[in-house]
Amino acid sequence: MTCSADLQARKAAAVPHGVATRGIYVAKAQNAELWDVEGRRYIDFAAGIAVLNTGHRHPQVMAAVARQAQAFTHTCFHVAPYESYVRLAERLNALTPGDFAKKTLFLTSGAEAVENAIKIARYHTRRSAVIAFSGGFHGRTLMTLGLTGKVMPYKRGFGPFPAEIYHAEFPVPYHGIGTARALEDLERLFHGDVDPRAVAAIIVEPVQGEGGFNVAPFEFLRALREVCDRHGIVMIADEVQGGMARTGKMFSIEHAGVVPDLLTMAKGLGGGFPLSAVTGRAAIMDAAHPGGLGGTYGGNPIGIAAAHAVLDVIEAEQLCARAARIGQRMRVYLEALARQMPCIGEVRGLGAMVALELVKDPATREPAPELTAAVLAQAEARGLILLSCGTSANVIRLLAPLTIEEPVLEEGLGLLAQALSAATGGSTRAVA
Ligand code: PLP
Repeated sequence: MTCSADLQARKAAAVPHGVATRGIYVAKAQNAELWDVEGRRYIDFAAGIAVLNTGHRHPQVMAAVARQAQAFTHTCFHVAPYESYVRLAERLNALTPGDFAKKTLFLTSGAEAVENAIKIARYHTRRSAVIAFSGGFHGRTLMTLGLTGKVMPYKRGFGPFPAEIYHAEFPVPYHGIGTARALEDLERLFHGDVDPRAVAAIIVEPVQGEGGFNVAPFEFLRALREVCDRHGIVMIADEVQGGMARTGKMFSIEHAGVVPDLLTMAKGLGGGFPLSAVTGRAAIMDAAHPGGLGGTYGGNPIGIAAAHAVLDVIEAEQLCARAARIGQRMRVYLEALARQMPCIGEVRGLGAMVALELVKDPATREPAPELTAAVLAQAEARGLILLSCGTSANVIRLLAPLTIEEPVLEEGLGLLAQALSAATGGSTRAVA
């Protein structure tokens, strides 16, 4: 039998330290469960970081990929294009918010989608500045790191980042930053740092992922739309983590009734295969000259086939409605826990993008990152995979597949309660 500890030692010798991993070496996975090389079973509340909204190895996704592999696996769309790419673009143009002509470009990773959205916005506006938000995360390439508003572990040591990137405050009501203050901060930028007429784009996650599952107040998103309209700025919604039915709507910005000019997506789109996209107003998307956009693997046929199946599954299994139901169940459970455990400062989220923020003291709301790490370790020891997030690493995020079976969901929530109880040294009564 292969042993996880041996693999971890080989990994330490062969892979750079910068590539951080857990010690769970996977052997197989199905829907919301995963088995490691030692045969241990885990419930997966990470879903490959919000990728597996349709679960591990959804049969329809697997069948679509197998069919595509029989035909061709790669030609490069620029060399020998294929109908499935065009049809997926047509589907996303219809599915994304906005009652106007749209176009879609396919790429491979979330970061690449964000890079391209910025390129397109710059070309269209002939402006260079970009505004992003504190606590935002947009990827690990140099432009997207520049846009990211979280130093550790992402930005430290990797600068300098591209010029003309500015950060405004993201509203986080739990920490005293409301919509009014966040908008004042944007005005401060326009006053002191960058002329709004030089700004190509404002990029915002409607629900911050790595930043701590902070849900942008809907009036804030509406105000951003108005600011963009007033100054001719392209509004980009980064839906890489919050998109593809995760929040109870296909795209999280739909909850606010706001229509962005460009929308980036990845993760859940490919159902476990690397695929990302930028969809947006045709007039903006068409700004760049032929040859200015694309890449060798962008819109790889296997990823495209998987994405068609993912969209079919979201529709057939009504995963938007399921996300809302799962999210509601998680919130009820966690709010009951929070009433017993003062270390749970806040339970928040949108749909099935649910988080709990752990604090040292509910009055001061001082972050508790050590406790958060302890809960993750206790959960892992009990067979539950959890992820943390937040600029102070004190938020636990739940990202179960939207296809998770009810008993597995309940079992996972029970393990989470046990882990919290063990990490705090207390006891938790059974939660209904
Ligand atoms: N944008 C958001 C909102 C994300 O959450 C992420 C990844 O977590 C990215 C962009 C970058 O995606 P990728 O890791 O596929 O490059």
